[in-house]
Amino acid sequence: MSKKRHIAILGSTGSIGTQAIDVIKAHPDEFEVEVLTANSNADLLIEQAGDVRPNVVVICNEDLYDRVFAALDPLGIKVYAGIKAVASVVQMDSVDMVLTAMVGYAGLLPTIKAIEAGKHIALANKETLVVAGELITRLAQEKGVNIYPVDSEHSAIFQCLVGEFHNPIEKIILTASGGPFRGQTREFLQTVTKAQALKHPNWSMGAKITIDSATLMNKGLEVIEAKWLFGLEPAQIEVVVHPQSIIHSMVQFEDGSIKAQMGLPDMRLPIQFALGYPSRLKSDFPRFNFIDYPKLTFEQPDLQTFRNLQLAYDALAKGGNMPCIINAANEIAVDAFLHDTIGFLEISDIIEECTQKIVYIGRPGYEDYVETDKETRRVAKEKVKSFV
Ligand code: NAD
Ligand code: MG
Repeated sequence: MSKKRHIAILGSTGSIGTQAIDVIKAHPDEFEVEVLTANSNADLLIEQAGDVRPNVVVICNEDLYDRVFAALDPLGIKVYAGIKAVASVVQMDSVDMVLTAMVGYAGLLPTIKAIEAGKHIALANKETLVVAGELITRLAQEKGVNIYPVDSEHSAIFQCLVGEFHNPIEKIILTASGGPFRGQTREFLQTVTKAQALKHPNWSMGAKITIDSATLMNKGLEVIEAKWLFGLEPAQIEVVVHPQSIIHSMVQFEDGSIKAQMGLPDMRLPIQFALGYPSRLKSDFPRFNFIDYPKLTFEQPDLQTFRNLQLAYDALAKGGNMPCIINAANEIAVDAFLHDTIGFLEISDIIEECTQKIVYIGRPGYEDYVETDKETRRVAKEKVKSFV
């Protein structure tokens, strides 16, 4: 790479954020951390900042500002608080690229602000594209900003497309592990606990995405994410369950050829590919050995049992603010499940009810998304209460 990239990591204390720091530290000639932000894990944020010495940190939870300031001001690191500060520091001249590794709808505003300031995006925060994919991709095009996928499936597709950008895609095949409850019945799912749902077979991730993987909502969100990243029609996006998570996704071209990207499940690789594109930087990550995996298997997703994937397909077909509705309802429902307030199957009930109750808007603008998100959260919380 020609010039050092100065990276802002939004959500540095999470699963993606901490792995991004590992990648950056392994390549000191390529990257420098300019900004770190976190929601409420002040201790880890302070530790990370002492280690990688960014110029700026933001702690979103304003109650923790004094503590972070006291620790980092003596090191000459500027400290700000609040989500508005995140939206403003991404625009600093010294930032080249923004890694959106915070979870949920909170990523929307900072991503918009970063794109408006012409910053390239390494996008982990899939919820942003689910909520406002049309707005985000249009803005990125206007500003000449690239959005590099971090999600492993979308990184796989991107890697398959390198050298093929002039060739039309016939379809993509998104692989899904199937999560911890693959093959189970609705009767079984009725009584599953949060602890069972948090045990993902192949990946160690934040709590929200781990539950989304168990419900298959994660794959639903990824179908919508893929539509916007690669400009596809819903019919061009196929989901195949592949329990070993070795093929990270595939692209089929118009001559019938299929390209796949493979490797052990390790998020550091797609993070590094997004930050370092177009270079493939050297890594010491464990290598895949075919002899260890004599069988790679594939099956249909079960849309009757895992209704969230169907709800996501329906939202994509309907378009407008519908994906924003399912995202907000899902965030509330997953949070309630993580607090043992509702059961696993009730997550889909809450989402479905919101799709029926919230006013549909065909061509939403930014304010419509804000309003839809707020109203959906209110309705979803009411529905949660009805289950208690
Ligand atoms: P996580 O829960 O481990 O970390 C989330 C980070 O975001 C933390 O640093 C937290 O402080 C910050 N954060 C949380 N809420 C916030 C808010 N309201 N405002 C500002 N910051 C906030 O999550 P994760 O697993 O690292 O996932 C992050 C994003 O990456 C998600 O959108 C997820 O879907 C996506 N993703 C994650 C993985 C993975 O392997 N973990 C894989 C693909 C995509
Ligand atoms: Mg993924």
